[in-house]
Formats: sequence, structure tokens, C-alpha cells
Amino acid sequence: MLIAGNWKMYKGPAETAEFCLGLREEELDGVDVVVCPPFVSLAVAVQLLAGTEIAVAAQNVHWEDEGPYTGEISAPMLRELGVYGAIVGHSERRQHFGETDETVAMRANAALEAGLFVIACIGETEEERERGETEAVLRRQVSVLEPDDNVVIAYEPVWAIGTGKTATPETAQEAHAFVKTLLEAPVLYGGSVKPDNAAELLAQPDVDGALVGGASLDLDSFTSICRAAAPIPS
Ligand code: PEP
Repeated sequence: MLIAGNWKMYKGPAETAEFCLGLREEELDGVDVVVCPPFVSLAVAVQLLAGTEIAVAAQNVHWEDEGPYTGEISAPMLRELGVYGAIVGHSERRQHFGETDETVAMRANAALEAGLFVIACIGETEEERERGETEAVLRRQVSVLEPDDNVVIAYEPVWAIGTGKTATPETAQEAHAFVKTLLEAPVLYGGSVKPDNAAELLAQPDVDGALVGGASLDLDSFTSICRAAAPIPS
């Protein structure tokens, strides 16, 4: 099970330091934990989580190693910082920053080539679901991704992100099972995962973890989701 916290545009270096110092003290055995701070907070997160099992990933990555791309950050730069992975294709990037399946694929490939792991986000909008297009959208979004051991998919129905509207465990399971027919990769669920709904979502056979936005910003709520993912010791 993998639980990744996507902090979006929250937590500068000072708040990141406070969170990571707290996270270091938590017992989180049996679950892979990743935090994804904003770019400016990556260095402090890497520094404070060094020597722990907790990985630090970026929220985006550019497809070129360097060049005239103002405002972008490359995979080798992230590697130099000690970052292990990157999210690509988050729906907020697709919605507000013109990200397309093609640019998502380019970002994913560059990250993999540089040795980063990739959390590739896919998911349908509410209108697409209502029109019965969910599978077609997922098929199109997955089709650009290369199979790779370092790729994890995050199924994040757009209508469930930051809205408090979580997919039912059955809806999530159905989508995850479909995605796994398209690409062999672990599939995380994302979309209003909270401490009180995490366990039933994570109990679905094809839900391999969660990508958590809002609820990852608070240490107690994030760690309780991580604990919901950990196998119960016998
Ligand atoms: C996300 O940002 O990837 C996300 C799933 O957000 P939230 O948990 O707030 O819906």
C-alpha cells in the first residue's frame, strides 16, 4: 500500500519543516509513505526526512533536462535535490495549465529516464461520467503511458477532487479494475480521501493506496490515513 500526500500550493519551507519533524516521529510500518510538497519546500523535506522510509516527490516535472522554459523544473534538477519521484497529469494541471495527454506522457518519460518514480493521474470529469464516457477517457489517458516498474497510476475522478464527494468504494473498485486491464501498475485512489473513508476505499481489492490532497495537510489526518493502509499486525 502506498499513501501519497499532494500538498498542492500549501506549505512553504517553514510549515514543511514543522510537518516533516512531526512525521519523522510517527510509527508508519507496513505502508509506503510519500509527501509531495511545492517545489520551494522540497529541499527542506528531503533534508528532514533523510534516513527515514518516507519518500519526497514533486508535484510536476518538465520533459527537457534544461532550456528556455521559464517557471519549469527538470527531472535531473529534482534528482540533484534528492527527490525520488514526481506527480504528472494532476487534473488541476490539466484544467488550469493546459496539460494534455501528450505533455503528461513527455513529463512521465523524462522523469522515468532520470530515475524518478512517477505518479500519473487520470480521471474523468462529472460530465464525462454522466455521458457514459468514463472508460473511454481512462483508456485515452492511460494509452500514452509506457509500462514501467516505476509508474504508479492515481485514479482521481475530477468530480471527487477537493469537493468532499468521494467515489463509493464500488465505483473506485470498478474503475481500478478497468485501469488494470489497460496497464500493469499499482492504482491509487484520489478524491476526498479522509480518515473516516480511507479504510473502506483501501479495502477494495484493486485499490493499492491513495493520493490524498486536502487531508494530507494535517499531520494527524494524514497519519491516520497511512495507518488505515497498514496491515493489522497479527
Ligand atoms: C489531490 O489533490 O490529488 C486530491 C485527491 O485532493 P483531495 O484529496 O483534496 O480531493
